[in-house]
Amino acid sequence: MIISQLKPLEELQQALADYGKLFLVGCAACATACKSGGEEEVFQLQEWLVEGGRSVTGSVVIDEACHIMRAGRDLRHHKQGVQDAEALVVLSCGSGVQSISSNSEKRVIGALNSLFLGNVRRFGQYEEKCSLCGECILNETAGICPVTTCAKGLLNGPCGGMEHGHCELDREIDCAWHLIYERLKKQQRPGVFSHRVPPKKWGQHCKPGRHRVR
Ligand code: SF4
Ligand code: SF4
Repeated sequence: MIISQLKPLEELQQALADYGKLFLVGCAACATACKSGGEEEVFQLQEWLVEGGRSVTGSVVIDEACHIMRAGRDLRHHKQGVQDAEALVVLSCGSGVQSISSNSEKRVIGALNSLFLGNVRRFGQYEEKCSLCGECILNETAGICPVTTCAKGLLNGPCGGMEHGHCELDREIDCAWHLIYERLKKQQRPGVFSHRVPPKKWGQHCKPGRHRVR
């Protein structure tokens, strides 16, 4: 799921500076699961806004805010609240914010930062395993993604900094390429080590992402 997190309140305050009447939108899918944009968080935001002197004309938690048609339908069900608002504040990932924008002429303000596509370790603990590169090589890397799990996203074996199987950027974590090598060895196949993997087009990313809800 998409892991998201509430923006710093000062940033939100600035984005809302010109708006007194707001309609709130949450998402019942990922943003609810990672406790950033469900019923509870919409309610907490409402309390904060009202305490700050703003009025909330209504709210809705859409099944999946990234579902453009469903988002449009749910906004129509809250036509009056949306109409009365000067702006819509959306607690969902960036994808959901854009669904709402495409369904409304009103100013739409995203209240969350989208962090990464995350696996759930346990409730409130998420780990990035896939960067959605579009050219998946997991079948060759024994199911471990080097694009995401290697801090440098290397595609053809470890960098010179690997030490005793640990990553040079953080000696507490295993080197992705050490893990790939060990798992392929257990499977008794060369996998990705039998050929050269062509480069992908990635910019500077800090990988892998980690996020814990406190
Ligand atoms: S190679 Fe890694 S980043 Fe690319 S699609 Fe597969 S798991 Fe995701
Ligand atoms: S030590 Fe391993 S995981 Fe760390 S950057 Fe180098 S190749 Fe990637």
